[in-house]
Parts: sequence; C-alpha cells; structure tokens
Amino acid sequence: MTKKQNIVVANFKMNLNTKLELDHWFANFLKAKKNLRLSNTEIVLCPPFLHLDVFTKKIKSKLVEFGTQNCFWEQKGAFTGEVSPAIIRSLGGRYVILGHSERRKYLGESDEIVALKVAGALKAGLYPILCVGENAREKQNDMLFAVVSKQLKSCLSGVSRGRIENVTICYESVWAISANKPDHLPTSNEIMGVKLLIKKILTKKYGSVAANRVRVIYGGSVVGKTAEDVCVSPGVNGALVGGASLVPYDFIKIAQIIDGQ
Ligand code: PEP
Repeated sequence: MTKKQNIVVANFKMNLNTKLELDHWFANFLKAKKNLRLSNTEIVLCPPFLHLDVFTKKIKSKLVEFGTQNCFWEQKGAFTGEVSPAIIRSLGGRYVILGHSERRKYLGESDEIVALKVAGALKAGLYPILCVGENAREKQNDMLFAVVSKQLKSCLSGVSRGRIENVTICYESVWAISANKPDHLPTSNEIMGVKLLIKKILTKKYGSVAANRVRVIYGGSVVGKTAEDVCVSPGVNGALVGGASLVPYDFIKIAQIIDGQ
C-alpha cells in the first residue's frame, strides 16, 4: 500500500445498526463517490467490527481503505470478547483508531492500555490512528499542551523509529467532538500550534526524517463547511470525521477539500 500525503478517516462509531441503514449508506456513498478523483488523499472507512467484512466486499476502490475503531493488544488467545489485530488484518482492515476519547471516557482506557494497543496493532501490520486531545476542563485550565504531550509520549512508548511512520496522529479537541457549532471549534492557529507541538515531540524522539513522515490530522466536528478552516488552513494532513461520515455526500466533500489543499 502506498502511503498518501493526506488521509480522511470515517469513524462511524456505533451507527449504521440495521441492514436498512447500511444499504442506504452504501447506495449514497457509491453515488457520491462516482467520478471522484483524489490525487494525494486516501479515504479510510472504520465501521463497527461486525460490518468490516461487508464493507470490504461492497466497496472496491483504489481510493478507499478500511479499518476499525479499536482492537486488543494481543494477537490471539484467551481474551473473551476481544478482537485481535490479526483478525482485522485478515478481513482486509489496514487501519485502527486507538485512544479515542469516547473509549477513554466510557471504557476507562488509559494511556498505558492505548500504548499496548498501538504496539500490538503495529506488530500485526496495522496502521494505528492515535487520538490525543484535551477535554473542556483541561482546555479551561490551560492544559492543552501538557495533556497532548503526556498522551503522545505515553501512547508511543513502545513504538520504534522504524515503525513511527506507520502511525497517524489525530489531534481531537474533545470538547468540539459532536458539537457541530461553528463557534465551538478550535481556531486554525490553535490547531497549527498543536500540530507543531506534536512534530516537535516526534522529532525529539525519532529525528526529523521520521517525524516528517508522520501524518497529523484533526478531528472534532469536521463537516464540509468547516474542513477548510480546521484542516486546510492549519496545514494538517486530513481529518477524522464522526457525524459527517454518516452523510456520504458531505464526507466526500471533506475529502475533496482536503485533497485540493
Ligand atoms: C470523533 O468522535 O472522532 C469525531 C470526530 O466526531 P464528530 O466529527 O462527530 O465531532
């Protein structure tokens, strides 16, 4: 797989739950994607685990890769209810979203757990999309840089220089996720500041050559109307898209805007 400069990731979360919803989404996505040209951007669709197989069978396109929203850190064994990176790979998944704030909040995932998962995913040949970012309280207390630094350093503790370029870092301002209000977004300058911080930390640990190869993207209420401001202006390499990924025309529009930058 050739790595593109930009990446636009759909995080469907726990949605598309019925066959009807799924069929409706596929029909609209295939229509929206017709005649789509992207020169330097890949689309990654991350459905719920149980839909991965049907996604890879229904959508055959050089522009689209697949992933999941989580995985376990071991490759196989007595871990009831967990899904291994190896299964994801064997079903055609290439990416995995890890450290998402909803998993940190509702499932108690710590940086230590996320670090194990990042290492386990890389071992299986998956490309982790590692989420870092501050919540509303941390933002109010001016802790943005401290939180992002700590999460990034801890979650990458098991990642070597040889593998770091397979990781995409997603800065998600947690307070902006699902907010969908234009005045409830970080500014382009704030996002650029976090991107520079991430690059600085990566450069210190892995050197500038490896750090330059790591894609940094933004997530949190990205829709067609906001993609220019929160992705193109701050010069990030793409977006993690939640709500708008359920609306194929808007999702494809985001990919086009990011590709045109
Ligand atoms: C997310 O939760 O990863 C996300 C980006 O959600 P939304 O786009 O709906 O804010």
